[in-house]
Amino acid sequence: TVKDAESKPRPSPGLVKSAAFTWIKPEQTADHELLAVSPAAFDSIGLKRGEEETEDFKAVISGNKIYEEHYPWAQCYGGRGGRLNGIPGYQFGHWAGQLGDGRAISLFESTNPITKVRYEWQLKGAGTTPYSRFADGKAVLRSSIREFIVSEALNALGIPTTRAISLTLLPQKKAQRETVETCAIVCRFAQSWIRVGTFDLPYSRNDRNLTRKLADYTIEEVYGGAENLVHPREVEKDGPPNRYELLYREVVRRNARTVAYWQAYGFMNGVLNTDNTSILGLSLDFGPFSFMDNFDPSFTPNHDDESLRYSYRNQPTIIWWNMVRLGESLAELFGMGSRVDAEQFINTGINQEDVEDLTKRAEGIIGRAGEEYKDTFIKEYRRLMSQRLGFQTLRNTDMDEMFSTALDLMEKLGLDFNHFFRRLSHLPISVMEEEDPRTRAAEHFFNANSSFNMLGMQDKHKDEEKTKAKKEIADWLGKWRTRLALEENGLDDEARQMSMKKVNPKFLPKNWVLDELIQRVQQNGERDILYKILDMSLRPFEDHWGPESEWQEEERLCGDVPPQD
Ligand code: AMP
Ligand code: MG
Ligand code: MG
Repeated sequence: TVKDAESKPRPSPGLVKSAAFTWIKPEQTADHELLAVSPAAFDSIGLKRGEEETEDFKAVISGNKIYEEHYPWAQCYGGRGGRLNGIPGYQFGHWAGQLGDGRAISLFESTNPITKVRYEWQLKGAGTTPYSRFADGKAVLRSSIREFIVSEALNALGIPTTRAISLTLLPQKKAQRETVETCAIVCRFAQSWIRVGTFDLPYSRNDRNLTRKLADYTIEEVYGGAENLVHPREVEKDGPPNRYELLYREVVRRNARTVAYWQAYGFMNGVLNTDNTSILGLSLDFGPFSFMDNFDPSFTPNHDDESLRYSYRNQPTIIWWNMVRLGESLAELFGMGSRVDAEQFINTGINQEDVEDLTKRAEGIIGRAGEEYKDTFIKEYRRLMSQRLGFQTLRNTDMDEMFSTALDLMEKLGLDFNHFFRRLSHLPISVMEEEDPRTRAAEHFFNANSSFNMLGMQDKHKDEEKTKAKKEIADWLGKWRTRLALEENGLDDEARQMSMKKVNPKFLPKNWVLDELIQRVQQNGERDILYKILDMSLRPFEDHWGPESEWQEEERLCGDVPPQD
């Protein structure tokens, strides 16, 4: 049954106490155009292709229909930003206090009938909520295109992320940003939208009962029960871990793995505060995100980020800082033997000695989680980087001898981070076996690159520098060949190229591509380019996507950042 989404007045913004969410309906929008759906998202959810043609689907994902048995809601959360080098950096310089879904409204949950995975559907840009504060509850087309594409691109790369089903244009609806812009709605989904910031808020208000309820909800509903939380292997000196510690360590490990992916694929979120850090370790909230172009570890995609807090290099530290904040929020629950104990404790309180014990215990747990975070991050990062370089086995020396040297080379020569790996995938080792092997290989490597900048190398490099650079690349390639020779069939070009191409994308929605896409959809009213870039984002490891007549255009979109005029 469908009911009129506008039958009651909207509640105005304000503080929401003792609650983790508020019931709220999307705003209706008479005029809407479905711009695109993600077929991969349909598959994940278990929707049939073609469903997007139905009026019902279009009405739901534009906020015009809600189901009586699933009343929509918006979530309440807080936010804290990372402290680096002793400088506290809360959200935009402050503890942000109550944030919450200011322009996101959750519609319902659905379960994929085959995989049994349950997802929460959410509209972004469907009107104000009690958490909108001073803002308008709208999302502009520009940021909606970015979120729609990058969610699906990250997923296609195998990086844990929230997802996007559809992108809907609202031609009549405008929002004032730097200029007046047209609005849109992204319908997105995730197994859960709970963030570290969701726990910050009750913690900051000392609402211990809500913290406990939220933790139990996360364990039971998001993770499907404590039995799904992996028991850490080592013997615990403070006795076996309780369910809250298991939850904490699971969240920590998941985030460590996700950051390892970001680092290995050069993805930067741009605003890594606790409100943008998922309890499931998903990449979450896509604002000023970026994929790395020419490798620069201190690059930040966020123009306001003067202290480089959210730079590529700092992402692992910042996420750990956020994990410590989660540890603080959960700390008193770590001391509880059982859920019943926790409930009793919160209702009756305890004496000072117990508090000291609990504090020590929590510090120990957070400390050990820190070790686990580092170990998990490094293990995952090594695995991914090894794969990207075509190694089937892991070697301890690779970190220093292969990864760091490659990164140094890229930084020094200004090489495009992701294109480096793809170009390496294509390189035939066989050419290195001839007489002047390494220089020949370097030559080959160079020739594979776009005419504008060899291997992504800026034109500012003069000829003699290019010769020097070629020699450095040749040296590194020589080491790489020696390392490959240690693998079983490591020098077999065909097998290596095939496995490397499966992990090294040819296409990524880089900022310059997204800028062009936004411009063409918004100003020129084009639609085909959106389908093209979505398709390329969904299958990033292909060599070609369309018929041969489109290959030249595809190559351009896969190229390095074009010169600025
Ligand atoms: P973000 O910087 O995207 O993490 O957003 C920080 C907070 O501001 C979140 O609570 C958002 O929901 C809220 N917010 C951002 N933009 C808007 C908007 N246009 N209308 C209402 N709330 C917003
Ligand atoms: Mg956010
Ligand atoms: Mg945002």
